[in-house]
Amino acid sequence: MTNYINLLKENDLKATIQRTSILKSIDQAGHINIDEIYEDVKEQYPTLSLATIYKNIILMQQNSVIVEVPMNGEKSKYELKKDDHIHLICQQCGSIQDREITQSTQKTLVIENFKLNNSQINLYGVCQNCQNR
Ligand SMILES: [Zn+2]
Ligand SMILES: [Zn+2]
Repeated sequence: MTNYINLLKENDLKATIQRTSILKSIDQAGHINIDEIYEDVKEQYPTLSLATIYKNIILMQQNSVIVEVPMNGEKSKYELKKDDHIHLICQQCGSIQDREITQSTQKTLVIENFKLNNSQINLYGVCQNCQNR
């Protein structure tokens, strides 16, 4: 299991109970939106407001602890910062699968006169489950 306290400290953030519980919620879900995080965290800390969660999410995003995954026409989801990877996002059920970036995909990412720092590739389509339905 990820050590959330270290993760926060490594990224120059104080390890507060709010932050560690948000991180735990994100970690367990893989990819999760703010409403779902709120539902999750509320169970344990009923006094925590949506505004507080939102503030902490923004801060942890700025400090590269978590990453926002933009969803087509829906609320963004969040995940813990990992190596760059591809997202396969199902437009029917909203599920997200992580895929490693292979060397051949990496090659296509080399763009002339542009120094790439990081990348997020989101591919939208229909997942296997929904195709079989
Ligand atoms: Zn699906
Ligand atoms: Zn991901």
